[in-house]
Amino acid sequence: MNAPDPELLALNTITIKQSTLQQAIDGCARHDIRGITVWRDRLQEMGVPAAASALRANGLTVTGLCRGGMFPAADAAGRKAAHEDNLRAIDEAQAIGAACLILVVGGLPPGSKDLAGAREQVREGIAAMLPHAREAHVPLAIEPLHPMQCADRACINTLGQALDVCDALDPQRTGALGVAVDVYHVWWDPDLDAQIARAGKDRLLAHHLCDWLVPTTDLAFDRGMMGDGIIDLPRIRALVQGAGYAGFSEVEIFSARDWWQREADSVLSMMKERYAACC
Ligand code: ZN
Repeated sequence: MNAPDPELLALNTITIKQSTLQQAIDGCARHDIRGITVWRDRLQEMGVPAAASALRANGLTVTGLCRGGMFPAADAAGRKAAHEDNLRAIDEAQAIGAACLILVVGGLPPGSKDLAGAREQVREGIAAMLPHAREAHVPLAIEPLHPMQCADRACINTLGQALDVCDALDPQRTGALGVAVDVYHVWWDPDLDAQIARAGKDRLLAHHLCDWLVPTTDLAFDRGMMGDGIIDLPRIRALVQGAGYAGFSEVEIFSARDWWQREADSVLSMMKERYAACC
């Protein structure tokens, strides 16, 4: 296995949630990190035009915008609000030159037990936003989430399930619709190798890195730094690169009790070190 390419390391800004977008951009410059994925709350806080010019001025590749999605809702008004917000997310992604818009698709509407219905709403929601994404040249990356988050965050839980949606809505494999392979969500999947191969270059839009801690103390906010857990990270990188993915590997660590409590520069230093040593 070849060593990880330092030119292909990207920061997902959630990893240093304690920082503003401007501070994250400055941090990337200090640590010579070339790619960045931006969260919408921090983008809106800075202002889209100001952020777009700061990202450009620093020569950063914008590897993604987080996030669109959250499709299922209890009623038509809720679905319409989600759709309109998703169109805005596409426009924001286009404005900052993001390589894709990450979709966290949403779980069950409050009070609902209709999982099949929620999944159908997701399919319909993606179909409805796809034309605007095509016009804007912003590929949509469906991110399957670990099944423990099925109820509240995403009812698409495996790469196979995400790729079924891609095949239904974009059978020509135009590049407008694909998947984000986040090691935290897919490492356990016995079908992982086959589904990454099935995705191929056309559908592999993002590769997210962190680690799975044992024990994990929170379903969403206790991700580990690469090397601190049990995921075979080089093996998964070999799979995505073997399938044709040549893009960035992006460090995305939600860590309320640990990394979000540290000084951001020390997080960036450690992330670079562990990327080189463990990924
Ligand atoms: Zn992710």
